[in-house]
Amino acid sequence: MLKVKNLKASIAGKEILKGINLEILPGQIHVIMGPNGSGKSTFAQVVAGHPSYRIESGELRFENKDIKKLTPDKRAKMGIFLGFQHPVEVPGVSVFNFLRRAKISGKNSKINPKTISAFRTELLEYASSLKLSDDILRRSLNEGFSGGEKKRNEIMQMMALSPKLVILDEIDSGLDVDGLRVVAESIKKFTKKNPKSSVVLITHYARILKYLKADFVHVMVDGVIAKSGKGSLAKTIEEKGYVGFGANK
Ligand code: ADP
Ligand code: MG
Repeated sequence: MLKVKNLKASIAGKEILKGINLEILPGQIHVIMGPNGSGKSTFAQVVAGHPSYRIESGELRFENKDIKKLTPDKRAKMGIFLGFQHPVEVPGVSVFNFLRRAKISGKNSKINPKTISAFRTELLEYASSLKLSDDILRRSLNEGFSGGEKKRNEIMQMMALSPKLVILDEIDSGLDVDGLRVVAESIKKFTKKNPKSSVVLITHYARILKYLKADFVHVMVDGVIAKSGKGSLAKTIEEKGYVGFGANK
């Protein structure tokens, strides 16, 4: 699914990713942990194709295709989805229209009204399972959303778009205990419904792993993956912190 080999990337002339190696197979759940500033969000943005980051060297392949030069929209069409750590507010674009454009059509093509109405019904089901109120679909994307609503809305997008590779950047931050459980259960449901899709969870805390079982846990420190292991690695980190992985935090 995703193959990353000795990937180096920089922003504003500063090298952030210093040789990432990672392979994600279909259907796997990977967790990336690491102290603040270690490069986790940078990695997510580089995979999604954010234009501010520059890939210096290394391999970045999705389904065996080199995606290094592809624009973010092309990568999204191939099935890469990034749930943002800080979702952007887009006044004037409703959640429904945003998702309808992304899922069903571009600007001009004619669509059967039945398709649209079925899509709305589907979205309302997702909203309800995420404990989001129905009017979410009519509201401007992320505008005035609470921290928890933003995160749940990212998950609704994931459910609606059925991507092949889901990267969730700190989806658990800003969520209370109930929110965390609802989101974790939705991710689990997603993986059951899309057994070939893979999920990368970027997180500070092992607490989401109480509800979700990860196949691999990686610790990113200073732009490299310092250690990889099974779910128990997350527990070790929660107990002992990142000391011992080359980090002083
Ligand atoms: P994490 O998500 O692990 O907390 P980030 O990937 O957000 O880490 O950041 C990694 C490093 O990149 C940090 O040192 C941060 O200051 C730096 N960085 C991120 N964005 C920029 C930017 N736009 N300009 C300069 N430095 C940046
Ligand atoms: Mg981050």
